[in-house]
Amino acid sequence: MTVKKPTPGELEPIETASRDEISALQLERMKWSLRHAYENVAHYRKKFDDHGVHPDDLKTLADLAKFPFTTKSDLRDTYPFGMFAVARSQVARVHASSGTTGRPIVAGYTLKDIDTWAHLMARSIRAAGGRAGDTCHISYGYGLFTGGLGAHYGAERLGCMVVPMSGGQTEKQVQLIQDFRPEIIMVTPSYALVLAEEFERLGVKPEDISLKIGLLGAEPWGQGMRDEIERKLGIDAINIYGLTEVMGPGVASECIESKDGPVIWEDHFYPEIIDPETGQVLADGEAGELVFTSLSKEAAPVIRYRTRDLTRLLAPTSRSLRRMDRITGRTDDMLIVRGVNVFPSVIEEQILRDKRLAGTYQIRLTREGHLDNVEVQCELQRELSNRLSLHETQAIGAELQQRIKTIAGITTTVTVMAHESIARTLTGKARRVVDDRPKQQ
Ligand code: ADP
Repeated sequence: MTVKKPTPGELEPIETASRDEISALQLERMKWSLRHAYENVAHYRKKFDDHGVHPDDLKTLADLAKFPFTTKSDLRDTYPFGMFAVARSQVARVHASSGTTGRPIVAGYTLKDIDTWAHLMARSIRAAGGRAGDTCHISYGYGLFTGGLGAHYGAERLGCMVVPMSGGQTEKQVQLIQDFRPEIIMVTPSYALVLAEEFERLGVKPEDISLKIGLLGAEPWGQGMRDEIERKLGIDAINIYGLTEVMGPGVASECIESKDGPVIWEDHFYPEIIDPETGQVLADGEAGELVFTSLSKEAAPVIRYRTRDLTRLLAPTSRSLRRMDRITGRTDDMLIVRGVNVFPSVIEEQILRDKRLAGTYQIRLTREGHLDNVEVQCELQRELSNRLSLHETQAIGAELQQRIKTIAGITTTVTVMAHESIARTLTGKARRVVDDRPKQQ
């Protein structure tokens, strides 16, 4: 499609502001946010006091480094509403993250927080090339998960006609996309592939699909996956990032004209990158763990929240605000295989370098005695599925195994299967890693 570069009048002043203007706004808002958390959340007050810091100690943005981090366990320990900074009567909505282990993480929103979220999601969709009058099909799950409602409010705010499809019912999704002819889709990358495969199965060509733009996120995905989705759906696939604890989707989102990493909406979320081992703040450009401080959130402010997501902060390009690189992994999804550290994203990259392989894969870990075994299951593209001989299929597997060995340094068993052999996600995030190793004591 022809890229819809925003006209200057379409951008908000902050998107073209100078660094001084951005920093001044951040400092003013950060002072408010620290005080708001300290005065209204007993847990923050105690942590600040124990750490010997007070909101008055923040004179510059760099002073934030003096304040203690907030982690997932702070949120779990205060479950469900202990981190709220406003009276229950002021909380208009709650969401909760899936919480793969233990209690879910609960997020609360005042009406003003929901308004800010809708505003930032609308900004994100506009950055992706969406405009008022477009039709927006939402396949993110509706419910406690932030994806569906977050996308919904943003698309409405921008002036789109919204199709609140939610996840699942793949055949119906594809039917509605053909009937309603939306320009925009908001969906996880793994479910975007499922939809693409359904179009493929029906024999609908990418150029005959009405979709032009996808805002894809909520799970890790690499450039190979982007290429695959763009090719199969005939769209520009835009990377949108967010997390429940900080707000939901729309904390950062990419611009269609540069597609060079999500722009962090720094007027509402102050980013830092830290060394995950020492907690030390790193310079822009250096890789580490992403940390956010909310600057305007009323119901559930977060101060130096450790996301566990690993990335880098990048200099501004299409907007005045800084960008983040793709998430290379999460501090908690790193696999340690026979002592070697591997992120699943590295394996994904190697799979998708081979255009004969489809984007769905699974990494299965087992242990025999003291040794870890890693099986990488992947699939042939549909059109090759019944055409290659066993020998040719095995050769693809052997090549992949060799590449993973060279790049990631681990020995794997690669199984190349027919198309659609691996179970698809029907509701959103894919389960890429199945770790059946006994838990370490
Ligand atoms: P859960 O932690 O239960 O998965 P969330 O829906 O809040 O709940 O997930 C947020 C997490 O999803 C982020 O911390 C990040 O790890 C991942 N994520 C979200 N968007 C992206 C993206 N665009 N790229 C990579 N990872 C993402």
